[in-house]
Amino acid sequence: MSEPATRPGAPVTAPRPRFSDRFITATGERRAAVPLQALRTLWFNTGTLCNVTCTGCYIESSPTNDRLAYLSQAEACGYLQEARTLHPELEEIGFTGGEPFMNRNMPTMMRDALEAGYRVLVLTNAMRPMQRFASELVQLQRDDGPRITIRVSLDHHTPERHEAVRGTGSWAPALSGLGFLARHGFTVAIAGRTRWGEDEATLRAGYRELFVTLGLDIDVLDPGQLVLFPEMNARPNVPEITESCWAILGKEPGDVMCASSRMVVKRRGADRPAVVSCTLIPFDKQFKLGETFAQAGGAVHLNPPFCAEFCVPGGGSCSH
Ligand code: SF4
Ligand code: SF4
Repeated sequence: MSEPATRPGAPVTAPRPRFSDRFITATGERRAAVPLQALRTLWFNTGTLCNVTCTGCYIESSPTNDRLAYLSQAEACGYLQEARTLHPELEEIGFTGGEPFMNRNMPTMMRDALEAGYRVLVLTNAMRPMQRFASELVQLQRDDGPRITIRVSLDHHTPERHEAVRGTGSWAPALSGLGFLARHGFTVAIAGRTRWGEDEATLRAGYRELFVTLGLDIDVLDPGQLVLFPEMNARPNVPEITESCWAILGKEPGDVMCASSRMVVKRRGADRPAVVSCTLIPFDKQFKLGETFAQAGGAVHLNPPFCAEFCVPGGGSCSH
């Protein structure tokens, strides 16, 4: 991990370039930090490889991007064991990628998490990589269905717009995967996008019509069942978040994801996986908090512009 220029508690000195110091902003103020309050959700990034190449994929996944390598079952198990001791409050294991089912260890990693007593959330495009594990998934559903949620990315409720993001021919396989999940009684959530310029009510109504035709029991008005994501293109002049921003914005450090979650990633070429602050910043080395939970319990300093742009609610309106 690259060492910061200024440690907490050190005297604040001259101004510096924006986002250049982990602890101090360009104006010399203390950067906002988020302590881990309670580890509720642990994410495993199973690897960045994906069967498709979507426009605007925040992690730039593709059939050739292996910047994050496949996580092994043994590596995931090691974290489950450490969590049992250090974080008894842990409730949920999330799997994300890339496309998680590109990793052939997925069914066994899901099984391990369920047997350890956790709920499991899998983010998938529901296409061919997931469907090749149909029999294993059906068995998992029979054994532990109520604790499994599969969240499927469907960028729009029409094939044209979905394929504008995911590529020609991507709609039918996604719907085939959704049909499989519906037939076998999985709890399904959908991740859509708001990039289309439609108002949210119209967008949700369009999804409702589609879900009725597919026989999917999803409440489109529940933001947990139909999650609509904005685009994640960082603006160049996003403000830095200081300690005083919380009060200005009327928010708490506990409002952001890194107060209650961590993600395990395995960088290509690394001997061991690393624990990072959240799912949104998998590559930035300053967000490698350690290799174990014992090393990764410290506060996260909100240095990347990403934090202000997308995460600290209303951060874009803080004038710091
Ligand atoms: S399916 Fe998901 S992980 Fe794969 S390229 Fe698209 S957005 Fe990225
Ligand atoms: S983007 Fe920043 S503020 Fe948001 S969860 Fe990640 S580290 Fe925390």
